[in-house]
Amino acid sequence: MTSPLSILRGTFGFTDFRGVQADVIGRVMAGKHTLAVMPTGAGKSLCYQVPALAREGTALVISPLIALMHDQIRSADGFGISAAALTSADDNRQETVARLRQGDLDLLYVAPERASGEGFRNLLSRIPLSLIAIDEAHCVSEWGHDFRPDYRLLRPLLDGFPDVPRLALTATADKQTREDILVQLGIPNDGLIVAGFDRPNIRYHVRPRDGVAKQLKALLDEQPGPGIIYTTSRDKTEKLAEQLGSAGRKVLPYHAGLDPRVRARNQAAFVGSEDMVIVATIAFGMGIDKPDVRFVAHAGIPKSIEAYYQETGRAGRDGDPAEAHLFWGAEDFSRARRRIETEVPEERRQGERDRLNALAAVVETASCRRALLLRHFGEAPPERCGNCDNCLSPPATVDATEAARKLLSAAFRTEMRFGITHLVDVLAGKETDKIHGFGHHRLSVFGIADEAELALMKPVARALLARDALRADEYGGLSFGPAARPILKGEESVELVLPPKRQRRRRGERAVNP
Ligand code: ADP
Ligand code: ZN
Repeated sequence: MTSPLSILRGTFGFTDFRGVQADVIGRVMAGKHTLAVMPTGAGKSLCYQVPALAREGTALVISPLIALMHDQIRSADGFGISAAALTSADDNRQETVARLRQGDLDLLYVAPERASGEGFRNLLSRIPLSLIAIDEAHCVSEWGHDFRPDYRLLRPLLDGFPDVPRLALTATADKQTREDILVQLGIPNDGLIVAGFDRPNIRYHVRPRDGVAKQLKALLDEQPGPGIIYTTSRDKTEKLAEQLGSAGRKVLPYHAGLDPRVRARNQAAFVGSEDMVIVATIAFGMGIDKPDVRFVAHAGIPKSIEAYYQETGRAGRDGDPAEAHLFWGAEDFSRARRRIETEVPEERRQGERDRLNALAAVVETASCRRALLLRHFGEAPPERCGNCDNCLSPPATVDATEAARKLLSAAFRTEMRFGITHLVDVLAGKETDKIHGFGHHRLSVFGIADEAELALMKPVARALLARDALRADEYGGLSFGPAARPILKGEESVELVLPPKRQRRRRGERAVNP
């Protein structure tokens, strides 16, 4: 048997294992079940590829996405490893089964729904297995951000081969999700290996959205190197790519609705380029091996804090300085919260709310963003990282608790169905027709806010929406969320990061960034 280290050097051409790779591979070699939680770019694939070659038999790799499997197979081919997939998209399935039977495959990729079938288990029972890898293992947990019921059906397969080491892999799992994965997949508690989550070379920036095309143009002007811009819809992807491309730099769109050939062409152009920008929906990035991405920008909030970490993690995999920019709007949070309350099954809502709140905290904070991010992943980082916008230039803040209370009261007194403009008019004591029509000039909140407070109302509303003190319906009507009462009762304060314009005025500087 060849040793893992000589395989790493001989087959892959790498010098040494990185981080926790050696620990993970050591356990698999010893035949033990393991859950490896490793951030994107930490080298998860190698953790099953090396033992697959070092141990007798074929390694079964369970993976949720056909595109991901095919990327992996291409990369395995590149290293001279024999790998194949059994999916509906592979028309050489018979050939693959024959190769499997002949012991000709180092790696066999399957989707969970196929892996859990009885026919497949019978097929495997006659074949020596080196290990079973379960990729994207957080999909097995309802706590995870991407639950897939098919993953729950894997247990009988795993238990059918009790002596074959299981290796569950994921980039994103908070404490609860990790514990759940261990239980669901029958991995002992001491089988958990967690790599450090910090990506010190990524500098985090978060700003409210304010004419995002203009903001992104300015970003492209001062940010060289390849970059990814994430948007939330196919339409926005194409429109933004067009707007940004007019400035001269090559900018291409990427989303699931494009012709597959165009998509493949755009992806290949990006991977090969040194300063191209791709504007993409989240369909882009999984399985793409481009270590020198210099920046990742989000034109709207990602789905969760896990998604934010994963997507920004595609920048700077080569270890050189890289940037992450998030442009957010209050409506992003409103929309995300409406989705949770209307589309997510009851039993998973709390988990999703928690993850969205964690993202809101990263967005709203006036202190270190990295510290919040890493704490979410169970680490105990220093208070300040020195490499995020807030650490580099601590923002001016104001205590906006009083203004927030007045805004909440105005929403309450007007029966929680009016938008921000009307509420501000009420607080300002304006004599509009609408106010008279509803009799709002007779309310106790009419005209109670002073100039300074009124100037803060928009950012206050944004902060209250982000932290779920206010919720907006599809027409912008504002009502209370669970975080409203503690603010009204004086148990919670609202510290506001001043918007960039006022920051500058306060520091007496001129703008560098828009
Ligand atoms: P993940 O799946 O964790 O995001 P990958 O498995 O795609 O990460 O690995 C990221 C990159 O790091 C790949 O280009 C891979 O070849 C490289 N890599 C992995 N392990 C090592 C190592 N020990 N030494 C050098 N490069 C490595
Ligand atoms: Zn910081």
